[in-house]
Formats: sequence, structure tokens, C-alpha cells
Amino acid sequence: MQIDQLPPLHDVISTHSLNAKKSLGQNFLLDLNLTAKIARLAGDLEGYDVLEVGPGPGGLTRGLLASGARRVIALEKDPRCIPALNEIAEVYPGQLDIFNADALDFDVRSHLTVPIRIVANLPYNVGTALLIRWLTPKDWPPFWSTLTLMFQKEVAERIIATPGSKSYGRLAILAQWKSNPKIMMELPPEAFTPPPKVHSAVVHFDALPEPRFPAPAGLLTSTVAMAFNQRRKMLRSSLKSASPNIENVLRDAGIEPTARAEEISLEGFCALARGLAS
Ligand code: SAM
Repeated sequence: MQIDQLPPLHDVISTHSLNAKKSLGQNFLLDLNLTAKIARLAGDLEGYDVLEVGPGPGGLTRGLLASGARRVIALEKDPRCIPALNEIAEVYPGQLDIFNADALDFDVRSHLTVPIRIVANLPYNVGTALLIRWLTPKDWPPFWSTLTLMFQKEVAERIIATPGSKSYGRLAILAQWKSNPKIMMELPPEAFTPPPKVHSAVVHFDALPEPRFPAPAGLLTSTVAMAFNQRRKMLRSSLKSASPNIENVLRDAGIEPTARAEEISLEGFCALARGLAS
């Protein structure tokens, strides 16, 4: 199936000499059926501005435009990809804005109009940093409605992990406090060119209208960090410096002082952060 009149991605790669650079986390998706499928996982794109980070040769970009996105704003750090992306912009006049920029430094907000979805096959080396940034804006709800992002499978598992599992930690608590993360699709290394060493997964996040349980954000973050930095220790010991009465604060939050971080639910950590605040 062809989703537009543009050349196949293998040809785009060779025409523009886009040999993949490891330093930029370049593992390209060249199957347009797959990129169209990932675009569909983001939900209905009609009437949405879509922010795409790291479009590379533009496979996912083409899927997003073919799925009816009102506009795609694409941030790509590698200048070699820009001519290939410009060819897509010619086929979708006025719908694709391309910026040769580092997504970690670029303030994209002024280029986007709500409602906004963020969709990306992220470079693995910046994926978690961008996710944390999108989950911790100054105000909530955030500027985006949904995130649909490719991660290493191990990171995807940390995002959706529940108490008691080895993957449960800071990322699960932050993501689940603010959104409803779900793994939508898993991809083997062979889906990418060149294949990475690990499996990947697409995670979809719906922003909650407000955080799932009330809690002061700063204290929740610092308490969770302290608890998981010494995840094998009992909380009365790992959180000793948080309060001189930590045992009482833990009990008032419904938590046994001898419990360990990985046993505590998101609701428990929120109650604990509220207790520490008062
Ligand atoms: N979306 C394309 C696809 O699915 O084939 C490419 C995905 S590849 C995993 C990641 C892309 O992100 C590369 O094109 C890379 O150049 C770009 N990139 C890496 N670091 C970036 C950054 N800090 N800001 C913007 N783009 C970046």
C-alpha cells in the first residue's frame, strides 16, 4: 500500500545519503504500513496539531499527514534530513513545518495551536528526558492531550509498572500520577534500519484533567526519589532525613514504616507527600 505519491523510504535514504548515525539514535522505520499504523495509534488526528520529534527521513511524518493531521510540526536535529522532509512538505502544502533544531533546547509552544498530540519514534538517548519534561510542565493540564511515543521496551515497562514489580519506580509514579499510560504495540529490532540491540514498544499517554491523587508535586518527587534511591531499605530508614517523625508520618499515611518503596502504591506515596507537607 502506498500512503502518498512520494518515493519509498529506501530510495529517500539513498537519494539523501542518510546513513544512520548512532550518536543521534538513528534507527529508522522504513515500512510505511507500520508508520501509518503507529500514526493511527495516536487517535483521531483530524483537527489536531501534531508535534513530531526526530522525523528522520519522514516515514512517521508521512503517516501522520496521511491520517489527516491539521498540521505537523517536526523537530529534527540532523540537518541531512531536512531536504528529504522538505519534499514531504511540498506534497502537503501549509501542513508541515520543519525545524532543524534540538528538541531539548527548542521552545515549541509558540508554534502549536491546541488541541495538540505529540507523536514520536524518539531517539532513545533523549526519550526519557523529553517524557519527564512533558509530564512536568508548570501547569496541569499540559499543552498536549496525548503522547504516543516509541521507547525501548524496558523503559515502556518501567512506565506502566505496578507496585511489587522490579520495574516499578519513579517513572511509573510520575507517568501514572498525570496520565493513563498504555503499551499499544511491541516491535522487534528487525522493524528498524539499522536494527537496535533491544526490543521497542509504543506507549500512548492520555493526559488526566488533573493528577490522579492530590499531592504537592515537589515533595512527591523528592520523596519518591529518596525512597527508590535506596529501594531495598525500609522506608523508615530511607526517608529518615525527610522528617524527624518519619515513622508517625508513614503510619498516618497508612504505610508500615518497615515497608519498602516498591510495595507502596501511587496513592500511598501521594498520601505520604501530603503528610510530609503538613
Ligand atoms: N522518526 C524516524 C523514523 O521513525 O524512522 C526517525 C527515528 S530515529 C529513532 C530518531 C530521530 O531523532 C533521528 O532522525 C535523529 O536524528 C533525531 N534526533 C536525535 N536527537 C534529537 C534531538 N535532540 N532533537 C531532535 N531530533 C533528534
